[in-house]
Amino acid sequence: KKNLIIFGTRPEAIKMAPLVKEFLKNPTFETKVCVTAQHREMLDQVLDFFEIVPDYDLNLMKPGQNLYGLTAAIITGLQPVLEDFKPDYVYVHGDTTTTMGSSIAGFYSGAKICHVEAGLRTFNKQSPFPEEINRTITGHVADYHFAPTQTSFDNLRNEGISKENILITGNTVIDALFESVSKVDNLEDPEIIHLKRELDFTKRIILVTGHRRENHGQGFINICNALKEIGERVDNVQIIYPVHLNPKVQKPVYDILGKQDNIKLIAPLAYPAFVWLMNKCELVITDSGGVQEEAPSLGKPVLVMRDTTERPEAVDAGTVILVGTDTKKIVSETIDLMGNTERYKNMSRLHNPYGDGKASKRIVEFIQNLN
Ligand code: UDP
Repeated sequence: KKNLIIFGTRPEAIKMAPLVKEFLKNPTFETKVCVTAQHREMLDQVLDFFEIVPDYDLNLMKPGQNLYGLTAAIITGLQPVLEDFKPDYVYVHGDTTTTMGSSIAGFYSGAKICHVEAGLRTFNKQSPFPEEINRTITGHVADYHFAPTQTSFDNLRNEGISKENILITGNTVIDALFESVSKVDNLEDPEIIHLKRELDFTKRIILVTGHRRENHGQGFINICNALKEIGERVDNVQIIYPVHLNPKVQKPVYDILGKQDNIKLIAPLAYPAFVWLMNKCELVITDSGGVQEEAPSLGKPVLVMRDTTERPEAVDAGTVILVGTDTKKIVSETIDLMGNTERYKNMSRLHNPYGDGKASKRIVEFIQNLN
């Protein structure tokens, strides 16, 4: 049987890498990888680290590209790939435009569509942000659904998807993390070497990331004001913030935090250095989906700067706290966690609801049993 695994952005690449490796080890399948390169540079760093060489590269990233052009380019770009390779199964991940476009193109080709990280929902179609629509459309095009948790399984069942076609697997992001965290300590990686030199590890490190479009504007201004106050009020703290390259993020961050001594603004880190730093820090403050799944597996409490989340399991499990973009709330929760040893320790010991690192093995086994 033939597998085509398609992805386009950094988080998809990180989360699909363990599945690519698992399938490539399995002689029952001929497995090929196609990247749309919806993000170019950040995708390539992940491909290098996981030693994945794509068989097809649509190289679709263009300056100023909008969702109309990107969606069309993905669907038309995939036609020759699908007609050349004729896959039996097409694998897509999550909720990007690549995910949605590839699932539709794969459907046109007659392949069975397999959705990895299926069933996440915010139940909030916040136009023009495409994620909720992307994952919902993909969920209804897909034949097989790999749901990370019981909650995502239930979401799919409530939309009428039959239970035989859904498997709860855990999230493949934990497979990738476990493989990487042991590797990065001994890696001769220039970014890690640089971090070791630049950062003061006698200080208490808070790692910050933020990129979400719904936070652009006032959201980021509030976030930066909160970080400034945390820097001023928490003793012996060092805030490390790899700043996303989007100018709507860069401007408020450098304007408000550029001159703060104990706040280090650095370029976005490639995945190995990011994993290394996440393992070294004390607390994570983020609006990222992937980071809130990863950090609890390393025992790091996470404050999530969003008002809604498609990942309620973490909030229920207590591994993350939703703080929104309210300056006061971000500051008060951070100060409380950094000052309250008992609360911190309890939080860092909680079980991570996103899996045990064997999600990709479960997916391969499921597909193998179909044949
Ligand atoms: N990440 C990274 N470098 C960074 C920030 C994040 O490699 O500077 C990784 C992180 O480990 C996680 C993924 O990128 O696996 C999350 O991506 P992002 O926050 O861009 O997207 P989201 O998860 O919100 O879709």
